[in-house]
Formats: sequence, structure tokens, C-alpha cells
Amino acid sequence: MAYTFTKSKELFKRATKVIPQGVYGHFNSAPTIPGSYPYFVAKAKGSHFWDVDGNEYIDYVCAYGPMILGYAHDRIDEAFAKQARNGTATMPPSTLLIELAEKMVEVNDCADWAMFAKNGADTTSWATVLARGYKRRNKIVLANSGYHGTQPWAGTNHTGITPTDRSDIIMVPFGDLAAFQRVVEENRGQIAGAMFTPYHHPVFEPQVLPAPGFWQGMRRICDENDIVLIIDDVRAGWRLDIKGSAHYFGFKPDLACYCKAIANGYPISALVGTEKMRMVASKAFQTGSYWNNSPEMAAALACIDEMQKIDAAGICSARGAQLRKGLEECAASHGLQFKMSGPNAIPFMHFTNEHNFKRAQLFCKECSLRGVYFLWHHNMFISAAHTEADIQKTIDVADQAFKIVKEQFGG
Ligand code: PMP
Repeated sequence: MAYTFTKSKELFKRATKVIPQGVYGHFNSAPTIPGSYPYFVAKAKGSHFWDVDGNEYIDYVCAYGPMILGYAHDRIDEAFAKQARNGTATMPPSTLLIELAEKMVEVNDCADWAMFAKNGADTTSWATVLARGYKRRNKIVLANSGYHGTQPWAGTNHTGITPTDRSDIIMVPFGDLAAFQRVVEENRGQIAGAMFTPYHHPVFEPQVLPAPGFWQGMRRICDENDIVLIIDDVRAGWRLDIKGSAHYFGFKPDLACYCKAIANGYPISALVGTEKMRMVASKAFQTGSYWNNSPEMAAALACIDEMQKIDAAGICSARGAQLRKGLEECAASHGLQFKMSGPNAIPFMHFTNEHNFKRAQLFCKECSLRGVYFLWHHNMFISAAHTEADIQKTIDVADQAFKIVKEQFGG
């Protein structure tokens, strides 16, 4: 039956009266192809969700990353619910705070300590504070088009962000060691920290993996210049390696930021650090209304344990490889130039002969109308709940969508 979005559209209209933009985030910053995507979800289970009109989707967005084990996962949800019966936001914290910090230190080979917050932006901001406090320096180096949250220091040209907000931020191209070395020399003794994502995952562009030796080079330059090396693993964390993406790429950062997949959808984030950062982390004042919430900690403990037990990163990667191969071969059979970039577990799709995303938009629209929820402007996420059958069904749907793209664009 053809997918329609009558209820979604009505609800969106209602939402715009009381919520600026109706739905926040990417729905508005990137056009979502009117008439082909739902606005609201009714329920989600495993790798699927159902919208308010009753349409079912295989979901390749996974809430932009938090969902790694499958929606409404019994073990994680029970851990959360059981702890919630003992209270939620308490001061002092529960002993789960210690258990979770111990678990983070055990799992993450760059971690000697861990602290917890709610969002990814809490931890990336916190990392800049610790880096600045470490040697009392001001400047932070980031990668062009990198994303570290909506806070003003991390924003680029977003509304309401002033040049002063960004006055101590220096931008370099991702992966360009010579450019980094240059800014270090030009700002000798002034750079507090360098924060990069483990690989480059900008929006509207193919993803870029670090060249061999890049991270080791970054580590060396940072050590030679007393610069705190920060990895923002908020997005990729636990989909590449349970020990963290730094382990995957063979280096040790001074600070690592985690969020998204840590508790399979419950709100908690973590900043971990090495021994050398312990003193400054003990001195810096950090707190938040819900940072001690224990049910999220129980969910995170269960989630990390489950990810270890089933090798979630391995499953995400294997299913992602199946998806990449299937889609690329299917597109080629239609004479289309289509590629997936980035890690298999976190892929970005693009048609290599276009820059305006018209083919990608049409492809995603036709997939959405057939029950496959893809993104054209942002990387997608594979979860450990995606089955081989999900991927095969996706490729069958993609076959029909590629056919339509070929008919409309000719190649
Ligand atoms: N860093 C990265 C790499 C991210 O992908 C995100 C979120 N997309 C953030 C930081 C910010 O996380 P949050 O939205 O939870 O504040």
C-alpha cells in the first residue's frame, strides 16, 4: 500500500503553532523532501519504527546514533526501569556512578577516569575547559566542517553566534598534519587543545577516513607542544570499536568524549581522560541538573555489557558491509555512479556525478515511500539489531528506487 502522511502533516501544522520550526534540528536545516518523510513516530522496536500514519520503516538513522542495540531493547529498558524505582535525580549520587566509571576505565584503553553528563555538547565543552585549564592557554584547534554540538564556540555561521564566541578557535582542514603543524608554530605556546572527530564526517559531503599515520602524527605534535589531544567520539563511539575509536585508529588521546550509543537511547554522556588530565579535571567546576541520574547509568552499564557480549561493533560493521556492497552493486547494475563513504557501520551515500544531491534526494524519497528510512545529507547509522533480512529487503527496495533515478536522470 502506498505510504501517505496525512496525520504527520496535520501534527506538524499543529506543532508549528507552539514550537519554533515545528520539529527542531536537521528537519529544517536540510530539506526533507516534502511529502515523502513522516514528521512523527508512533513506536519503535528493533531496527524498525512506525510513524503516526502506521507506515513501517527499516531505520538507518537510529536517532542519529543513540540506538545501537535496537529500539525498546528489553535488557536495557529493564535496567533503566528497575533503577528508576529507586529514585532518579538524587544528590548524593548512587553507587552506579562508581560502577559506571569503573566500567568506562576497564573498557576504554585511554581512560584512567570518567565523568558523566547528559549531551555530547556537555562533554565537548567540558573538554575545552579542561584543555584550557591544563596549561592556562586559550586557543582550541578544530577541523573545518567538523561538528561538536550547537554551543557557540563550536558553531560556525549559525544564527546568534558572534565572532567573539569563536575568537579563540582556529580551524584547519581535517587530516592535514602540515596545516596543524603550521598553526602550532604560528601560535606557539597559545594552543590549549586540538579537538577532532576520529574520522571526518561533515554534512553534505562524503566522509573521509584518516590517512595512515595521521593520528600518530597528531599525537607527536601535541606531545611536543604540550597541547591536549581531544577525540570527539560522540558520534562514532562504540560503532567502530568497544574500546573507542582512538583504539581503532591506534592512538591514545588525552581526553575522549562519548555520548550517543552509550546507553542505547537513554540520555547520558561521558568524558574520559588520562592520568595527566586528572588534576585539572578535579579542579574544574562542572555540574548539571540531571548529571547524577542513576537510571541512565544503569542503562549505560547494561548497554556497554551487552555491546561487549554480542560484539555490537562487529555486527554493525558486518551489516554495514552487506548494505554497502548490495547498494553499490545494485546502483551499478542500473548504470548509476553511487558510492558509500566512511566506515561500514556509519556510512554516507552519494552519487559521484552530482553535487546538488538531486539524485540522492529522489533515491531517498522513493526508498522512504517503500519503508526504508535513509538520509541523503548526513551519515547514517547501522545497529546491531539490523538483520541480514532487513538489509536484503533494503536492497530490494533500493533496486526499485535506483530504477526511478535512472529513468529521471539517465545516469
Ligand atoms: N560531537 C559530535 C561528533 C556529534 O555528532 C554530536 C551530535 N550530533 C555532538 C558532538 C553533540 O552532541 P549532542 O547533540 O548530544 O549535544
